[in-house]
Amino acid sequence: MKREAGEVVDIFDAIRIPGIPRVWITRGLSTEQIQSIHRNLEEFGEAENLVVSSETYRHFTVDEGRSIAVAALELFDAGANSNEYIPHQILTNLANVVPGSLQGLYPSLLERDLGWGSDSMFREADWATRDRIISLLDAQVQSIYTRQDLLCALAWIGDDVVQRQFYQWHQTPPMWRNLLYTPPEEYANAAGWELTEEGTRRNLFFEMCYDLVVPEQAPLEDTPGPVSVAIINEERCGWCGHPLTTLFDIDLRDPRMAFLPIQGKRLRIAQCLNCALQVMPHPVTDIDGDGTSRWSLYNTDPPKNLKVYDENDTSYESLPPNQWVLGMARRTPYENQGSHIGGCPDWVQGAEYPHCPACQKKMMFVAQLEPNIGSLEGIFYAFVCLSCGKATTMYQQT
Ligand SMILES: [Zn+2]
Ligand SMILES: [Zn+2]
Repeated sequence: MKREAGEVVDIFDAIRIPGIPRVWITRGLSTEQIQSIHRNLEEFGEAENLVVSSETYRHFTVDEGRSIAVAALELFDAGANSNEYIPHQILTNLANVVPGSLQGLYPSLLERDLGWGSDSMFREADWATRDRIISLLDAQVQSIYTRQDLLCALAWIGDDVVQRQFYQWHQTPPMWRNLLYTPPEEYANAAGWELTEEGTRRNLFFEMCYDLVVPEQAPLEDTPGPVSVAIINEERCGWCGHPLTTLFDIDLRDPRMAFLPIQGKRLRIAQCLNCALQVMPHPVTDIDGDGTSRWSLYNTDPPKNLKVYDENDTSYESLPPNQWVLGMARRTPYENQGSHIGGCPDWVQGAEYPHCPACQKKMMFVAQLEPNIGSLEGIFYAFVCLSCGKATTMYQQT
């Protein structure tokens, strides 16, 4: 039974597939019983892949999204044991990809313990739910969501009231501040923004977002398109001597790239693969709108214990050039899975926006690449500080 992503009826089928109790010991079971377990696992695996993929939700209307959300809450209330994170995944995908689909459901979302981290599910929450979340934090009311979940939810809401509240906590830390590793206002980063010194919101991502896809998925007349990926750069790494790789080479003259607020014709963001997979932070390059991409004097001495792989060592990971091109525009900047340019990063290990070495401000997220090649199973993220002309990258994996 092959499923095509994106059909409403398929997703209802998928939601109805019951959680499969994990069976680890099959000794003593008949061949028939074992085959049946495998069939169930396979069916559940397919259903799981469908509902957790954000792509599935791209074409749903608000009404369709809403009925899927209601079904997800019913699934949660039915207490589906081994797949209990699935309702949270469905609701998060709806919040990220189908704006408006969770209207009226926010009180129910808050009542239930759906806390599976970084709660973008609450991004469009009504004011009463927002105020309830603030009171849950402040009044030390017993809550099933952790304090981190609640702060992330507030960060995603991120409206004027949340900004004022974060600023107030910044000036007068709340009683519960010492129970957190970071100040409350820094949770804004999880939702792609930071609180300025003046107490206002500064976004760290661009609202426009486009898929980066394999060339076969892009219209022929549109290849190579305005974005080239993983091209050898003429500069060498000042730490290890390897050639730098231009992770993203962007043609700024293409109208689709107009969301990048930089004058000129070309933007290049480079990294050293040898160093990127070993150390944090990554080297910084000097950039401009004319394609300049140079090793920056802001880079300090090479990190200690840096390994330098032989450039001809074939076991050493490499990124094949020109395997990704610009695809379709996404409906929202919040659908963060997969490779894309613009929109919000999909942090594998939590938000980690690098600081610009020149102005010390957090750098803006530009694009991410999820290569899925060999052992490169993580995500590369590219950042810029356009006012200082600096670029850098990050790499996170599980
Ligand atoms: Zn290097
Ligand atoms: Zn800067």
